Amino acid sequence: MRRRAALGSLVLILAVGIGGYFAVSHVLQERAPLCRVCGRSVHPGQMFVLHLDDGERERTCCPRCGLHARLRAPERVRAAWATDFASGRQIEAERAVYVEGSEVMTCCRPAPLREPGVVYERHWDRCLPSLIAFARESDARAFQAQHGGRVLTYAESVASVRER
Ligand SMILES: [Zn+2]
Repeated sequence: MRRRAALGSLVLILAVGIGGYFAVSHVLQERAPLCRVCGRSVHPGQMFVLHLDDGERERTCCPRCGLHARLRAPERVRAAWATDFASGRQIEAERAVYVEGSEVMTCCRPAPLREPGVVYERHWDRCLPSLIAFARESDARAFQAQHGGRVLTYAESVASVRER
């Protein structure tokens, strides 16, 4: 009898444990989606979302990855939303103003410390040059004054992404 009870509680513990594991991993996946283009985790401040014709939403880590995805299958994209870096709100990608090539790059790991005598190569990165969206041009200009880069319209950003 005792054995049975012990076995029963063991099964219960296992069931709770396994269920909990799946629940937690599900929540973690929901919380930290990975970029569909480059595989990096998506940062809320720079997320770019494509609404596809099948109802799916494709999230990317930054506008650059988002525009790469859009250019790859333009016929599948119904709408595109960027994130206003200043407020964190979603904005229509076509109406956003972008800063390209600033020093701010939340997607990439910081550059490794340089050691003397070691030759470093800069590898091509899909997220570079960085592209950051703003709802208001005044915010984009203020950001540019602080962090460098150039201010682009949506069309100019698309043209730049098409090039590299
Ligand atoms: Zn990405």
